[in-house]
Amino acid sequence: MPNFIDVILPIPLQKLFTYSVTAAEANFLKPGMRVSVPFGKSKIYTGIVKNIHEQAPVVYEAKDIHQILDEVPLVTKMQLKFWEWIASYYMCTMGDIMRAALPNAFILESETILTKTTSKLNDEDLKDDEFLVYEALHHQSSLKVQDVMSILDKKTVLPVIKRLIEKDAISVQEEVFEKYKPKLVRYVKLASDYSSELKLQELLENLSRAKKQRQVIMTLFMLSSKTKKPVKVSELISQSEASSAIIRTLIDKGVLEEYHIKIDRVVYSGEANEASKHLNEYQEKALSEIKSEFENQHTVLLHGVTSSGKTEIYVKLIEEILQKEQQVLYLLPEIALTTQLVSRLQNYFGEKVAIFHSKYSSHERVEVWNNVLNNSKKAQIILGARSSIFLPFQNLGLVIVDEEHEQSFKQFDPAPRYHARDAAIVLANMHQAKTLLGSATPSLESYFNAQQQRYGLVELNYRYNNVLMPEIELVDIKDKHKRKLMKGHFSDRLIEEMTETLSEGHQIILFQNRRGFSPIIECNTCGHAPQCPNCDVSLTYHQYRNQLRCHYCGYNTAMIKTCSACGSPELDNKGFGTEQIEEEVKVLFPEHNVARMDLDTTRGKYGYEKIITALEQQEIDILVGTQMLTKGLDFRNVKLVGVMNADNMLNFPDFRAHEHSFQLIMQVSGRAGRTDKRGKVLVQTYNPYHNILQQVSANNYEAMFKEQMDERFNYKYPPVYKQIKITLKHKDYNRVEQASIWFGKSLRQVFGDNVLGPESPPVSRIRNQFYKNILVKIPKKQSLSKTKEAIIKINNSFFSVKDFRSVKIILNVDNY
Ligand code: ADP
Ligand code: ZN
Ligand code: ZN
Repeated sequence: MPNFIDVILPIPLQKLFTYSVTAAEANFLKPGMRVSVPFGKSKIYTGIVKNIHEQAPVVYEAKDIHQILDEVPLVTKMQLKFWEWIASYYMCTMGDIMRAALPNAFILESETILTKTTSKLNDEDLKDDEFLVYEALHHQSSLKVQDVMSILDKKTVLPVIKRLIEKDAISVQEEVFEKYKPKLVRYVKLASDYSSELKLQELLENLSRAKKQRQVIMTLFMLSSKTKKPVKVSELISQSEASSAIIRTLIDKGVLEEYHIKIDRVVYSGEANEASKHLNEYQEKALSEIKSEFENQHTVLLHGVTSSGKTEIYVKLIEEILQKEQQVLYLLPEIALTTQLVSRLQNYFGEKVAIFHSKYSSHERVEVWNNVLNNSKKAQIILGARSSIFLPFQNLGLVIVDEEHEQSFKQFDPAPRYHARDAAIVLANMHQAKTLLGSATPSLESYFNAQQQRYGLVELNYRYNNVLMPEIELVDIKDKHKRKLMKGHFSDRLIEEMTETLSEGHQIILFQNRRGFSPIIECNTCGHAPQCPNCDVSLTYHQYRNQLRCHYCGYNTAMIKTCSACGSPELDNKGFGTEQIEEEVKVLFPEHNVARMDLDTTRGKYGYEKIITALEQQEIDILVGTQMLTKGLDFRNVKLVGVMNADNMLNFPDFRAHEHSFQLIMQVSGRAGRTDKRGKVLVQTYNPYHNILQQVSANNYEAMFKEQMDERFNYKYPPVYKQIKITLKHKDYNRVEQASIWFGKSLRQVFGDNVLGPESPPVSRIRNQFYKNILVKIPKKQSLSKTKEAIIKINNSFFSVKDFRSVKIILNVDNY
């Protein structure tokens, strides 16, 4: 009997590929092991064995494998089952999933990283496809082979890469390892013995002959009363002109006390060093409700206001799972994977916590994979971003999805376009584990599911320590403009509150939902706005580099001095971004430290952490940022949050815009006043009577939910209907137009009025590709699998039309 194996290859093939193996190999191999196999004329790929059988393929002759790479399966049976679910639900191939699931180091080919060399090249030196890759490296420090594939939209990129290397445009290097060592900052304060005035007098008298020491104490006094902030040793030394030895003496004498802010994060020793906290009565009640809901439900939604202590509740649940020696998956949106939460969990659970996300090196990810696969003590709790659902869990007991409303749980591009929250629930069910979703502002999807009793629901309405919810004030900037009470983008109210907050030594967060200095430049004379040559969008002005940049493809050019259409020098900024706010704050409050947190300032593995640390250590007084600011951060000293402009969120052309605006503003507000004093939030808007803003200021999630659900019912949007978005793209507009009309018509024959489009999206051309969207709305009663079958059938006959073969089709189930 001949022996065969079906192999999953990391390329988007609809079918598995069959190879022939010897009887001995067939005997040795198990599903989930890796093999390397020849493919096409000369390629070697790493594949995963799916089945072992004796049926020769009908349409081609099976080749022999190259070699077996594993002695035991690297991918579990359960994972293969999970992959199959994802492939069928999200309409992608097993190869797509393999590529997303396995750390690169397991797929031999893709380990290499491409970077730009320093040599100067002219555009004419490069062919079109070479130029695209080279250009991409101008705004991205490195690219992987896979990135090049998606930039060029083809698989055979190695020749292009080879030519670029020959022309000395790019070089290939091994993955760089970057280790972040947060700096340890020393602070001093007066020892508590000297807190009374009398004792202090005594002290100063005692030191009357030790002039230098006395000087240090006086300076410390001056600094701490002026800035109302912790005083760094370095600052004290420079201001008092004392040596570090003198400060040492004072510390040794017990006059000064030395301390480090956030020392726990830096000197994490590998040991659990803290017992979990005693829950307060509300947390206790929520915890027992969660447990009793779990008796009948697989999934429970915990709706707890910001700072209600949800994390501490998760910790209690995790403790119970660890007792049972099971594994825990703790999912977070990528950006919220901060050292704050990491060190908190490590303090409780020591080295049982393993972290997994895309900024980790391939090496680190391989380590976590193996630890999870071997059910090692070192990886009992996986704290990870969306891709950690693909780890080889052996014995999963609990999945926690924190900030479950976050859009970034949905993978947008490339396939698999999965939603990590929804997929995690399926994964948990396969393991007969429970899932806890947590959020202060649940997604309509999850809250709706809870209302339909598909999930359990637990509410937690009190902040920990009875800290009041921040007071939210809406500021009508239309009126302020009319009455000339605006300075730039700042209303008099915002300036007043900022001044007061700073004078009390507290910190401020300003939220502006856009990066760049000003989204677009417009000519005052003819109205022309400079456009990206590759995409259908206006370019954005970035002051820092004095450039115009495209946020879609990275195209950039020097800032223009005159209008390129009419030559007029009168160019105007329309709208505003984080950079412009930062500039204005610096002018308004020149004495204070201002920093900015957005995509531009947080590149690099630890870019984000560095800013957070600086804010925690109070090196920053005012932080200006985009929605990155909203993700579950806990800053003790932030008392004021300013939302610069609520309208550009509310007016975003998307049916979820209102829901998202509510979530964003509530979340960013949740950063204010998390400890003793009540925080304050100012929301600047042209439309203070907007229902969403009224619901935000009343902290009324239910009202928002009800109103938005009415809309979703009326317009047949999710979560009432399901949705599949079909995107067509091609470099030739006419072709994509014809193709989309054909596709739309075919869909309509099956689904009638539940098909919308084809339509051009708001940005209809990106990287020189024209886009068309078609939306299929699926009533709850209609079978989802039948619907998908019909779409796939149409898709297959689409590709049998010769003219359409070069059109790219993207299927996006539950699109965001
Ligand atoms: P959430 O996740 O709901 O935003 P957190 O769990 O981050 O809230 O809690 C907010 C703050 O309150 C944190 O600093 C946390 O350490 C503190 N906290 C919460 N619960 C307790 C508790 N039971 N005992 C002591 N401190 C707590
Ligand atoms: Zn002009
Ligand atoms: Zn562009």
